[in-house]
Amino acid sequence: MLRPIAAHLRTWALWSQPRRVVWYVVLLDLFAVSGAIVAALTSRNPTTQDWGRLVALALCAVVHLQVSRRHEENRRRRKPTTHIGLVTIWAFPAVLVLPLPLTLLLILITRAQRWFIVRRPLYRFTFSAAGTVLATVAADGLLRLSGDRHWIDLGWLDSLRELGILAVVALVYVAIQAIVIGGAIALSTTKLSWATVLGTKEDNELELTTVALGIITAVLLINAPAVLAVMVLVGVLGDRIADIRQLQVDVRTDSKTGLLNMRGWRDSALREFERASRGNGRFALLMVDLDHFKAINDTWGHPAGDDVLRGVGETLRGETRPADTIGRFGGEEFVLLLPGMREHEAAIAAERLRGTIAELRVTTTDKMGEPIEVADRTTSIGVAVYPTDADTLDGLIQAADAAVYEAKENGRNQVRMAPASQLAISGDQDASHGVTSDR
Ligand code: GH3
Ligand code: MG
Ligand code: MG
Repeated sequence: MLRPIAAHLRTWALWSQPRRVVWYVVLLDLFAVSGAIVAALTSRNPTTQDWGRLVALALCAVVHLQVSRRHEENRRRRKPTTHIGLVTIWAFPAVLVLPLPLTLLLILITRAQRWFIVRRPLYRFTFSAAGTVLATVAADGLLRLSGDRHWIDLGWLDSLRELGILAVVALVYVAIQAIVIGGAIALSTTKLSWATVLGTKEDNELELTTVALGIITAVLLINAPAVLAVMVLVGVLGDRIADIRQLQVDVRTDSKTGLLNMRGWRDSALREFERASRGNGRFALLMVDLDHFKAINDTWGHPAGDDVLRGVGETLRGETRPADTIGRFGGEEFVLLLPGMREHEAAIAAERLRGTIAELRVTTTDKMGEPIEVADRTTSIGVAVYPTDADTLDGLIQAADAAVYEAKENGRNQVRMAPASQLAISGDQDASHGVTSDR
């Protein structure tokens, strides 16, 4: 009897994770279970009305999830990492209104249903449930501290006080889930960034919106339960909007490198351009072209080429500031807009990027699927500066592109400034021998 269970346990994907991730997941699961038991034992006893409300929330959640399952699957397929389910619209009001054991029951019901919609490894499933349970226990504790809720005929002052309490509880609820999941991501990745650990701006906005909708659901649940049907509609609509929002991000993103594609880059670059042209600002535009890239494809195959493109994309992101706009211009060309940079600073930045890409080592596979390492790749970089080289974005792109071709003709593996910038730098150097300099 025990042997098949043990054999099954050994097949869990969890064990192939780094040891610190395994510890983190197991400890948090245990923590969630014990927290839930303690909180449930000290919770008030459910009344018949509570059970009725649980049934109402569970019914709404089931209908919502079933109607939206296609959208949910779409989003998950497109973006398998962080994923916000809109089920919070039903889970959060349970936290606010129901005694803890019933809230946990609702989590169980909705999780079980989602299990059939998004099949992912069981440990990840229980782990994100553990995050929800911990958030629930903490929010429940805060609510108990803040006294009893009476949400009938509240006046301005009383409802303002309630709003304040709800805002705090909602923030704690969202933050704990984000920290639990973010902690696991932080432990299992080597490339730490705020967006990968705490989710993107879009993820967090969506999460806060669903919690806010959950608050409305709670008020309805107490005062006009049949109107919950309207919230089901809102939930279904919310899933469609979330789907569209994700598509909006996708439309601006280059799927291979995760950088901006030209559509996204152009939008951001034009905003930066307008800011600079309004306020006498400056910026540099760098065109980065990998040298003899075709040879990588020819020698090791296109998948290897793709891995190198991804590696270069990561390098560019890692070596630039958050305010810089980085896009994939085309095949093996990248374009960067660096706000606030003058000619000599741009030249230094470009030279640094060239050096870092030259040091890049990309682990990939050859045409036979054997592991190889691609290294010592060189790049030619063209630099144009606003307003020195041109006074339109297209003019600057052209100037930087022309500079790339000069770099290629001059033997590749170098940075080349557009002519006017080149002159400005030489002028500066001449001036620095004299008494004055404009820097
Ligand atoms: P140069 O030093 O003159 O820039 O030589 P190059 O080989 O880098 O330039 P060329 O323009 O001759 O070739 C670019 C190559 O980039 C050809 C194309 O197969 C490859 N390429 C473009 N997009 C992709 C892509 O998405 N993946 C892969 N693997 N290769 C790509
Ligand atoms: Mg090229
Ligand atoms: Mg090239």
